[in-house]
Amino acid sequence: MRKDVRILLVGEPKVGKTSLIMSLVSEEFPDVVPYRAEEITIPADVTPERVPTHIVDYSEAEQTDEQLFQEISKANVICIVYSVNNKNSIEKVTSHWIPLILDNTDKDSRVPLILVGNKSDLVEHSSMETILPIMNEYTEIETCVECSAKNLKNISELFYYAQKAVLHPTGPLYCPEEKEMKPPCVRALTRIFKVSDLDNDGSLNDNELNFFQRTCFNAPLAHQALEDVKNVVRKNVRDGVCDNGLTLKGFLFLHTLFIQRGRHETTWTVLRRFGYDDDLDLHQDYLFPPLKIPPDCTTELNHNAYLFLQSVFDKHDKDRDCALSPDELKDLFDVFPYMPWGPDVNNTVSTNDQGWITYQGYLSQWTLTTYLDVQRCLEYLGYLGYSIVSEQESQAAGITVTRDKKIDLQKRQTQRSVFRCNVFGDSGSGKTGFLQAFLGRNLLRQNTVKEEHRSYYAISTAYVYGQEKYLLLHEVFPDFDFLSDAELTCDIVCLVYDSSNPHSFEYCAKVFKQYFMDSKTPCMMLAAKSDLQETRQLYGCTPLEFCRKHKMPPPQSFTCNEAAAPSKDIYIKLTTMAMHPHARLRCMCTCNRCTFCLCQNFLNSELVQSVKAKLYTAVFSRHMTQADLKTSTFWLKASVGATVFAILGLAMYRALLKHR
Ligand code: GDP
Ligand code: MG
Repeated sequence: MRKDVRILLVGEPKVGKTSLIMSLVSEEFPDVVPYRAEEITIPADVTPERVPTHIVDYSEAEQTDEQLFQEISKANVICIVYSVNNKNSIEKVTSHWIPLILDNTDKDSRVPLILVGNKSDLVEHSSMETILPIMNEYTEIETCVECSAKNLKNISELFYYAQKAVLHPTGPLYCPEEKEMKPPCVRALTRIFKVSDLDNDGSLNDNELNFFQRTCFNAPLAHQALEDVKNVVRKNVRDGVCDNGLTLKGFLFLHTLFIQRGRHETTWTVLRRFGYDDDLDLHQDYLFPPLKIPPDCTTELNHNAYLFLQSVFDKHDKDRDCALSPDELKDLFDVFPYMPWGPDVNNTVSTNDQGWITYQGYLSQWTLTTYLDVQRCLEYLGYLGYSIVSEQESQAAGITVTRDKKIDLQKRQTQRSVFRCNVFGDSGSGKTGFLQAFLGRNLLRQNTVKEEHRSYYAISTAYVYGQEKYLLLHEVFPDFDFLSDAELTCDIVCLVYDSSNPHSFEYCAKVFKQYFMDSKTPCMMLAAKSDLQETRQLYGCTPLEFCRKHKMPPPQSFTCNEAAAPSKDIYIKLTTMAMHPHARLRCMCTCNRCTFCLCQNFLNSELVQSVKAKLYTAVFSRHMTQADLKTSTFWLKASVGATVFAILGLAMYRALLKHR
C-alpha cells in the first residue's frame, strides 16, 4: 500500500480552489480567503482510506509557472477546478489545463485527473453535458464531481474520490473506450478465480464464494446477498452461473460491473489480497517473504505445505489415476506466468508407464525445489496462493528450516527428512543409471530418455525404520578442476565405478583421497554394471581392500540391467547411512536382510541410540556425584549398565523380528 497521497488543486483564478480547501478543513464556508491556502496534511486515521493525505493549493497570483510545474510533477492526483457558472473557466479546462498537465507528467505514469465543478449553489442546471465529452476524450480523467464550497455540498466526496483515484486507479483495470477490463486485469482475476475454485470444477459454489469473501473482505456473504449477486449475473450473462455456482465468465462480469459503477476499490481489494501491485504484477514482497537460512541448515516443506500441495494435486488429477497427464499438468500451472517444470523433471522424479509425473514424483519435485532453491519454492507457492488458501501469514510458513547439521552430529540425531547424496564416478561408470534406477527405471527404459531431457538429479522416497525419508541423488560432473562447496556438502557420498572396466576404480580412489578421506561425510563405494563380467581394477589394491583400509562398507554390487524395476535396497542403505553418519556399518555382507545386517541397522536406530544414551547418562550421573568414587566399582557398575542395555536391545530386537 502507498505511504501517502498528494492532491493538487489547479484551475482559473476565483473558481473557488482555496474556498474548497478551507471548507473541507473548517466545515464552514469562509467569507474571506487568502490567495493560496497553506499545504495541509490530513492524518491517516481521519481519512476514509487510512492514508495520510496532503492537499496543495495553487494560486497564479502567488506562484510562478516553474513552481506550478514542480507541484504538478509531485502530485499523485490533480483536481482541475472550474466554476459551473463561468463558461470561460470550463473552456480553459481543455484549452489550457489538461495539455499543461500532460506536458509536465511522464507518459508512462500519468497522474489521474478529476474535474471539479464548483459553485453549484449558483445555478439550477448541471454542467455535466459539457463535461462528459471531455471525460470521454481523455482517459486520464478518473471522474468528475459538482460541488459547492458554500453549501458544503460534495466536499468530502471530492477529496474521497481524489484519494480513491490514487489508491484504486481505474487506469490499470479498465479501458473506457472498449468498455471492458484490460487484459492484465482479466489475467489476474482469472488466476484468482482458479485459486479460489478449490475443487476445480470451473465454478465457485457457495462454500468457495464464502471462503473468497472471508479472505478478501473478512466477512462471509449473507445467503440472500449471495443469491442476489447470482441473480444479477444470471440476468446479464449467459453461462455466468452454472449449477448454482459462479463461472469465470460470471466472475469477470461482476468485476466489470463493479468498475463501471465506480466501485473499483472492490476489485482492487481482491487483487491486492491475492498479491498484486499497482501494475497488476505479483508484488515482490508477496512472492518472496523474508526467510532466514543460517549456514549448515537445509530447507524442507512442512506438513501443512505438503497437505496444501496434495490438495492442489487432487484438484487437478481429474481422472484420479494418481498421475498428472500433460493437460492436467498444464492446467495445474495455469496460475503461473510461465511453465516452471520442463521435460527434465520427468527424469528427476517417479513417473508412471506413460511417463507422467506420479503423485509421489510430484511431491518429490516440490521437495527438491525446496531443498535446492527455497526462494523459487516460495515464488511457486505464491503463484498457487498457498498463504491465502491455507490461511497462513506467508509462504514462509510452509517451510521448515532444519537445525544446524553440527548439532545433529553432536546429538547423533536428526529431524531432517531430506538427505542429499552426491554421486561421483568417471564418465561412463554408470552414475546416470544409478540415479534413474532409483526412479524404478531399468536400463531398457532409461535408453528411451532424450539427451536434452536428462537430469543431474533424482529424488524419491526410501523407508528407514518405518519412516519415509527423501533421498536426493546428485550426479557430479566428472571433469572438474575443483569442486564447489555446494558439490562437496552432502549427507553421504556415493563413489561409482564400472566393475567391468579396469580403469574405472582409480577415479573413485582419487576423489575419495582428495576430498573425503578426512571429512566426516560417510562414503559408499558402488560396483556398477554387476551384470557384466567383472575385471580386476588396475589400482594398487582391490576396491575391497581400499574400503577396508578406509573403514568404508565393502563395495556394493549394483546393476540396473534387469527385466524388472531395480531394487531399492541400496538406496535405503544410503539413506540409513546419511541419517546415522556416526554409525559405521561394520557388516561385511551387503544384503541388508541377514540377521547381522538387521541387527546392525537396529542397533544404530534412533530409538536404541537414545535408550542407550539415557542409560549411560543415568549410570554416569549417579556415579559422578559420589565423591569417593572408586574406579573399580565405577567401571563395574558401568559395565552392568552396558549389560542391561545389551539385554534390553536383544529383547527389542526379538520384538522387532516377531513384528516382521
Ligand atoms: P480561487 O482563486 O480559485 O482560490 O478562489 P477563491 O477560493 O479565492 O474564491 C473566489 C470567490 O468565489 C470568493 O469570493 C469565494 O467566496 C467565492 N466562492 C468560492 N466557492 C464558492 C461556492 O461554492 N459558491 C459561491 N457562491 N461562491 C464561492
Ligand atoms: Mg486561491
